[in-house]
Amino acid sequence: MSQNLENNETEQSNVQDSDVIKIKNLNKWYGNFHVLKDVNLNVKRGEKIVICGPSGSGKSTAIRCINRLEEFQQGSLIVDGVEMIDDVKNIEKIRRDVGMVFQHFNLFPHLTILENLTIGPIWVQKKSKEEAEKTAMMYLERVKIPDQANKYPGQLSGGQQQRVAIARSLCMSPKIMLFDEPTSALDPEMIKEVLDVMVELADEGMTMICVTHEMGFAKKVADRVIFMDGGEIVEQNTPTEIFDNPQTDRLQLFLSQII
Ligand code: ADP
Ligand code: MG
Repeated sequence: MSQNLENNETEQSNVQDSDVIKIKNLNKWYGNFHVLKDVNLNVKRGEKIVICGPSGSGKSTAIRCINRLEEFQQGSLIVDGVEMIDDVKNIEKIRRDVGMVFQHFNLFPHLTILENLTIGPIWVQKKSKEEAEKTAMMYLERVKIPDQANKYPGQLSGGQQQRVAIARSLCMSPKIMLFDEPTSALDPEMIKEVLDVMVELADEGMTMICVTHEMGFAKKVADRVIFMDGGEIVEQNTPTEIFDNPQTDRLQLFLSQII
């Protein structure tokens, strides 16, 4: 994993601007419903951001805009120098550079674990099967389940499936990883094994945006915690300040509900 990240790092060092994501006055509506209200957020290379906030506050919508799973109506969003406009070429580059891990794993149920990991590299990146499988096995080792390679997703535990989903993203050599509540569908005993993989990835320098309410994880890895409510960024600060010294009633209320 680290070798891969180092390669990215070399490539990235040529880029002058250290903000890999620049979101300016982003506004989005679902019909009449104003779901994102003037969201501003810059993320530096290697930075780790945790987003928290009540259900329905727009967290998923916000991060889905970053890899263009959602479109928006107003504002600007630049990812790794590419402005998000309705240009298919740009969308392909963004999808390649930005990996995403979802709450419900989203693995292909009819493919083996190894096939889940190699399908993208073979079909999208045009890698040989041999090379794709070698990379896939390396990442399965990293997430500590190489022995599961020939099983199907349904034969694995939730925690194992989520680790496969992370490995699958890493096989595409992303520059940025987005996580949308990756542990909230897991039984408590499986949360740690997934968070451990995420902490390792953070330690290796990956740029990460994680929607999660795992405060221990936020305190350990986040450079910044962003609190969203009602489609707005209400507060952002270091984990210590956010959790120990909330400035708004809204954040205080939210914290009192999750602790
Ligand atoms: P969060 O991830 O913080 O729980 P979401 O970004 O999923 O919030 O949703 C924000 C709001 O937008 C919610 O009120 C939700 O019901 C609404 N919403 C999400 N997706 C859609 C959609 N495709 N069409 C209409 N409303 C949506
Ligand atoms: Mg969500």
